[in-house]
Amino acid sequence: MKVMKFGGSSVRDSAHIRNAASIIKTESEKTHVAVVLSAMKGITDKLIHCAELAERGDESFTAAVSAVAEQEKATFLELLGEKEAQGKEAEALASLEAMMKSLKEILLGVKLVRECSPRSLDLIMSFGERMNSTVTAAYMRSIGLKAEYVDTRQLILTDSSYGEARVNYTESYRNIRKRINTMDGIAVITGFTGANEEGVTTTLGRNGSDFTASIIAAATESAVVEIWTDVDGVLSADPGCVQNAYVIPEISYMEASELSYFGAEVIHPYTMIPALDKNIPIVIKNTMNPSAPGTRIAHDIKKHHRPITGIASIKDVALINVEGNGMIGTPGMASKVFRALAEAEVNVIMISQASSEHSISLVLRAVQADRALKALNRELENEIKAKRIEEFTIRENLEIVSVIGDNMVGSPGIAGRIFSALGNAGINVLSIAQGSSERSISFLIDRRYLKKALNTVHDEFLL
Ligand code: ADP
Ligand code: ASP
Ligand code: MG
Repeated sequence: MKVMKFGGSSVRDSAHIRNAASIIKTESEKTHVAVVLSAMKGITDKLIHCAELAERGDESFTAAVSAVAEQEKATFLELLGEKEAQGKEAEALASLEAMMKSLKEILLGVKLVRECSPRSLDLIMSFGERMNSTVTAAYMRSIGLKAEYVDTRQLILTDSSYGEARVNYTESYRNIRKRINTMDGIAVITGFTGANEEGVTTTLGRNGSDFTASIIAAATESAVVEIWTDVDGVLSADPGCVQNAYVIPEISYMEASELSYFGAEVIHPYTMIPALDKNIPIVIKNTMNPSAPGTRIAHDIKKHHRPITGIASIKDVALINVEGNGMIGTPGMASKVFRALAEAEVNVIMISQASSEHSISLVLRAVQADRALKALNRELENEIKAKRIEEFTIRENLEIVSVIGDNMVGSPGIAGRIFSALGNAGINVLSIAQGSSERSISFLIDRRYLKKALNTVHDEFLL
């Protein structure tokens, strides 16, 4: 079997859905396929916006949700026409309309209580994938495919970490196998969503449909998982920043994980986990250019001779410095810092400590900076009072750039080349970290240098 996932950009409107369905049709004539779908492009953001408006008590949420409903219904009618919509696919249309009604009711509830908990937001976001999968499955049937809508809330069991729920693989795999392996048609599966033990809707994190596809592939022991998107594959850098970026034909699971962890949006970082576990290759393909070979992410890849494989960047990060004489030779200080941050559910992206032990620099997402500072001030109150450590300093408007590649392992001199190239380009580096895997070197720069830094490193190694 083959799992094919179509991202929001590949199902952004009726024309794109037609195109995706024709790709599915061609493949399904050759092999058994299962399809995983995202919401139409922009719908998840729109749903979040509706929830925010409703939470603020802003009446305009009704207009905003009606616009979403109209977009979905218009797409349905464009694809199927009134005749099918009233005839064979009347049931699908009814189910789409029932979803819209229920979405409006939920938002009204949010407005009444003026509160949208992460749990409610997951439920609200889940409509994007459910509506699109309903529409697309109906269209696939209308062109003669045996397509069946499958709701992952009945298959993927997660914990209750709303917004980024953790998956119980054993149970989920069992559910998926039971459902998908016994189907003879094409499963049209909602990406991004799951449910906890009580059946409450959860989501797997933004961009999470890639991860869903990999979970489905691992559970069904598929031969391959294809991620269909709007670029020709994994590129050596973000094409929005680096004009010379090119498609990487093959890349290891580890490199793909590092690239996506450090900001290459083309694939969600968790996607590699189930695929790697079952040794299933992931292929990134372009929906608008299906004949392009794409990028293959696998174990058995051909070695290339460039010192690095790619570059990525994480936007909007902040740097917090913890420093002071009391840090020197005092065991436990770092553990206090990290415990406080973990308890506040702050995700530290990058850490560096000078060998003098005088300071620790922490890099985290700017949106979490306030929460992090509060937690640190609480935890280290006594140390600050006793002047063992100084008041925390924070710097924002920063970006992390990461240089990634398996060939960096055990090969000296690469860091030297990176930083002299940056120095020659007049780019000031604020902090540096190397993963112990030696597969990545990351550095922190001011936002205004981002484009220049990416291009400088790309030119140095990848031209
Ligand atoms: P989808 O809607 O298919 O999930 P995404 O928007 O999530 O697509 O991901 C594809 C986008 O990722 C591309 O359009 C591109 O702008 C961006 N991108 C960032 N870094 C890279 C990279 N290294 N390689 C390819 N695409 C990248
Ligand atoms: N629709 C979700 C999002 O926008 C999941 C996905 O597209 O993969 O984040
Ligand atoms: Mg995506």
